[in-house]
Formats: sequence, C-alpha cells, structure tokens
Amino acid sequence: MQQEQENSSVTVFREFLRIRTDHPKPDYTASTKFLVEKAQQYGLQCEVYNGTGLPIVIMKIEGSEPTLPSVLLNAHVDVVPAVLDHWKVNPFDAYKDEKGDIYARGTQDMKCVAIQFLEVAHRFIKSGKKFRRNLYLTYVPDEEIGASNGMEPFVKTDKFRELNVGMVIDEGLASPTEEFTVFYGERAPWWIHITAEGNTGHGSRFIEGTAVEKLMRTINKMMQFRQDQFDLLHKGHHECGKKLGDVTTLNLTVLKAGVGEGPFPNYSYNVIPTVAEAGFDIRIPPTVNLESFLDQIREWTSEEGLSFKFANYTEKNELTDLNDPDLKWWTVFRESCDKMGLKLVPEIFPAATDSRFIRNLGIPAFGFSPINNTPILLHDHNEFLNEKTYLRGIDIYEGIIPNLANM
Ligand code: ZN
Repeated sequence: MQQEQENSSVTVFREFLRIRTDHPKPDYTASTKFLVEKAQQYGLQCEVYNGTGLPIVIMKIEGSEPTLPSVLLNAHVDVVPAVLDHWKVNPFDAYKDEKGDIYARGTQDMKCVAIQFLEVAHRFIKSGKKFRRNLYLTYVPDEEIGASNGMEPFVKTDKFRELNVGMVIDEGLASPTEEFTVFYGERAPWWIHITAEGNTGHGSRFIEGTAVEKLMRTINKMMQFRQDQFDLLHKGHHECGKKLGDVTTLNLTVLKAGVGEGPFPNYSYNVIPTVAEAGFDIRIPPTVNLESFLDQIREWTSEEGLSFKFANYTEKNELTDLNDPDLKWWTVFRESCDKMGLKLVPEIFPAATDSRFIRNLGIPAFGFSPINNTPILLHDHNEFLNEKTYLRGIDIYEGIIPNLANM
C-alpha cells in the first residue's frame, strides 16, 4: 500500500541506497548497471568511461550551442563503511519510518545528490526543455578513499577535456538550520610523519638528547599552534564569525616509540628508544599560503633536527572566488536561489571532496547539497534524510540548473 503511494523519485533513491558501494569493496558493477539502465529509461545519452581503471558513468543532455563551456553535475557513487552495531536499522535496507526519514549509508553523502541530479535530468527530458549548453552528469568512483582511481586522474584525461567543462556542481553538506550552505573552497589535507632520532642508554640515567625529548618539544610547539587555531575558531566567533573551514586544524594521530615487541607489558622499559615518531592530520584553509606553512613545519622540525615526510600532500589548493564580479556562474547560481527564497551561506568545506581537482584546473565548482533543517550525519551512524527534503532538493536543482545551462 505504502509502496504505491511513494513518489517514484524516492523509490529510485532507495533502490540506489541498497546497492553496496561501501568501502572497502564497493560494487561498482552493480552501481554502473543501475545508472546506465536509468539513463536509458530516462532518455539520457550515456557512456561508461573506464580510462581511470574504474567505471565512470557519463550522461549528457545536448545543448543547442554545444561549443559553449558545459555545466557538469558530479557525484561520487561510493560510500564509507557502516558499523552495523551502531545502527538502529540495517544501513543498506533504506528503511523509511512513518515520518518519511530514510535511513541508510549514503542518504546524505552523497547518493541523495547523485539521484537528485538523475531525477532532475529526467524532468528536463520529459518536459522537452532545451538548453544552450551541454549538460553533463558524471558518476565517479573512490572519492571516499582519495580519488586516485576516480576524479584525480579523470580530470587529466582527453575524455574530461572533451566535456569542455565551464562549471561544476558537486556535493556540499547538510545544514541543521533553515539556511543552505554552499562551498567555494576546501581545506588542503596534509598528513605528515615526523621522525626523531636520539641517544640511547639505560633507563636509570639522565640521558640527554633522546629521540622522545626532541619529538616532544616539537609536538608541544605544534600543539600550541593547534590551541591558537582553536581559540581563533571559538573565541573570535562573534566578531569575525570563523567557521571550521576557515582555520587550520592539526591533530596528533600517530605516536610511536619504545623498544620491544609489545603489547603491554612486553617492552624494554629500561631502554631509551633511539627513534620516536609522530604523525599529524593537518587541514589547511585555502586562505593560507601553503609554501609558508611548509616553512613553518620545517622550522618546527629542524629546530630539533627532526626529519619529516608526507603521507599525503596537496601542493595546490585553489578556491572559487565568489567576490570575482566576472564569475557569472555564481551570480546566476545565487540569483536562482534568491528567486526560490533560499538563504545561502558560502563556506569553506572543512574536509576534502572531488571539487578540489576541478578548482585546481581553474574551473569554478560549487559544493551544494540542497539539504536544510537536517543534522549533519555524513560518515556518522544512523545517517538519514527525510523524503520531503530529498524531493524538495530536486525542485531546487530544477530552479538552478536551467539558468546555468542557458547562461
Ligand atoms: Zn561525499
């Protein structure tokens, strides 16, 4: 009975949520098959590109002036794993409760947007709408594990160049308030691994110049920097309205030293270790000069004679400058939202998405998930989205995308 009343766009969304594209073994065969079948059913041009090693589904609505730069709607199809014990329902059943809340991994990140793009494209086809520009939809793999077989190599291919992309809409975040957030830049993730070497000796003596000592002094300087950034975010909130995306976060995530096999108590507690290591997850806003920040890290480590290497390094971190009066894409995007009475809050994305590869090419990208009045639950337990919010999102894209495609 309930099944009959359900909006077909919601049914498609729930079907897609049930496809197991969770890491570490996302079923891209199933997701690709699903998307290709939908494209055929909806009358969208569609091809599967395998040049990066994993399938990328590319759909298209041809414009009347196809030589103009195109509009690209991009979604990743993979999702992060779900720890079943922490969920109140199976995260791959797409269970819908009586309020219309749909619970599943990917309801917010970002199978919602993936299917909203598909459903809005279906509306365009059904209504026979014609745009000036080509409109593309891309469905890419492996965003959640760094995109090294996804968007990162894809933007360097001839296939991508063929699309002649003028602007991109990709994922944003849910907003817990009435306002909608739109992201114009991201923080660069740097993972650094610091190694200290020092003198050894018996644990009963005052050995000087130990690895641990040197490492700790460096860690303390870095933790002081962390505190300063924390204060900037929390204490300066009222005057300057700093958000997480505006400050540099730094977390000590790896710590290693000690002689012996372990675990407790199988260490040599009376031996000073000659090596101590620390790893940090650092996220740097695009307003920070990366070169100067690298100098800062060199200074922190060289003062103690420590070495470091990167486990993850981003050399370039471009943003889409919303204050640029020539950025007509933004004007049109903003005005379209104004017309629908949506309040937009531009922000820097606190983590990383595929948009970074787009922006580094100099192509503007807006991170926008049309989800408001919803707690931010991406990667969290019991991730959900209400079906009404989801359906309204399709209407919202319908109010924006034609204006961009006709610009
Ligand atoms: Zn995502």
